[in-house]
Amino acid sequence: MTDINRNRLSELFERERREFEATHPNSKAAYESAEHLFGRVPMTWMNKKSGSFPIYFESAKGNRVRDIDGHEYIDFALGDTGSMAGHSAPAVVEAVTRRISEQGGLTTMLPTLDAEWVGAELSRRFGMDRWSFSLTATDANRWVIRLVRALTSRPKILFHSYCYHGSVDESLIVVGPDGKAMSRPGNVGEPVDVLETSRVAEFNDLESLERELAHGDVAAVLIEPALTNIGIVLPEPGYHDGVRELSRKYGTLLIIDETHTFSAGVGGMTRANGLEPDIVVIGKAIGGGIPTGAYGLSAEFAERALARTDLDLVDMGGVGGTLAGNPLSVAAMRATLEHVLTEEAFDHMIATCDEFTRGMNEIFDRYDLPWSINQLGARCEYRFAKPYPRNGGEANAAADGELEDFLHLYLANRGIMLTPFHNMALMCPATTVADVEAHHSVFEAAVKELLGV
Ligand code: PMP
Repeated sequence: MTDINRNRLSELFERERREFEATHPNSKAAYESAEHLFGRVPMTWMNKKSGSFPIYFESAKGNRVRDIDGHEYIDFALGDTGSMAGHSAPAVVEAVTRRISEQGGLTTMLPTLDAEWVGAELSRRFGMDRWSFSLTATDANRWVIRLVRALTSRPKILFHSYCYHGSVDESLIVVGPDGKAMSRPGNVGEPVDVLETSRVAEFNDLESLERELAHGDVAAVLIEPALTNIGIVLPEPGYHDGVRELSRKYGTLLIIDETHTFSAGVGGMTRANGLEPDIVVIGKAIGGGIPTGAYGLSAEFAERALARTDLDLVDMGGVGGTLAGNPLSVAAMRATLEHVLTEEAFDHMIATCDEFTRGMNEIFDRYDLPWSINQLGARCEYRFAKPYPRNGGEANAAADGELEDFLHLYLANRGIMLTPFHNMALMCPATTVADVEAHHSVFEAAVKELLGV
């Protein structure tokens, strides 16, 4: 298999950096003059960039983004899934504009009629009976963690190693090099030792899952049905049946976080793979770009929770969010689910992603590259390893920061945008096969330069 020459990679990366700086003077100046922001950016993670400064964004529509230097990009990042519906999808714009200017009222702490419609639609798609809203998927995860602890009287939550569920304290746990659980490197200011609140198992490893559940102290298993934040690690046949069987055997609830795996289809992997969670969490894409999140409970769980009069679910009990379920977020969810991320839209997005994956496999084969790509419906992601890693630990070990940054910058310099956190490409309803081909011709040019062929 073909190896990458590291010296050539460094030289090419340097050339791309210079090109990026020369062609993005306005972004450069904006970054250099930002004196009042922590890390020069609105959120410190915006410093996750492949060039020496972030691209400053001006406007976006569908799957096209424009920056303040006048460049246009085909956007395969789509806000790392927040804009899977496409930027400013007309139906979402119309619904939120109506809410803002015709109906009026952005935050009232009163329910709107849209909310029950959204709850019913989420039930139809994901099979959960009772829904509640948040403003982010992180918050939805935090709230369900409190609920499952309260209802099971067990202290711990079990996660997959190298999972991501937002900045949820309990989730920042990994299997360390010695096979033992440890706090995830880089965890900022953990409130208590994560080993007190959490357990961890590798994805696709039912033996270690059973070993951890057998302690009898796990309230819930909180997982993505495929890992999507360390590449896309797919479940092996029988894995989810095993997870469900073991969680039932040890009296542990099963929470499925569909925030990214929603790419699998209208009801995420829960529906596509016939999963049977007790709770579903979702965020990002369902609001068409407007902040929102949701969690869905089985009727049985919801009734048990509501019957617990010792839990202050209405006021100070720790389940909060003054702006959660606000009329704007709920209107955006309704428009997104009713008119944008429909069955037909997913058919188109998934067919487009099939083309993305097929074309990438062709390039990997043509140049005998030891890389591989996994697809989950409308999203796919490549990793610098072959075969594709089968768990989080292996996927983490297969990272190559310099190569990844070079490819991202090479693509950005030629009008293609990927999520800085991933080698991931996501299709929205506006993405076309021509967009995919445009990506592939730039990607292939990068590979040829890297290999010197
Ligand atoms: N769950 C999953 C699976 C995610 O990938 C993310 C974010 N990448 C979150 C939760 C948190 O979403 P947010 O940052 O919108 O709260």
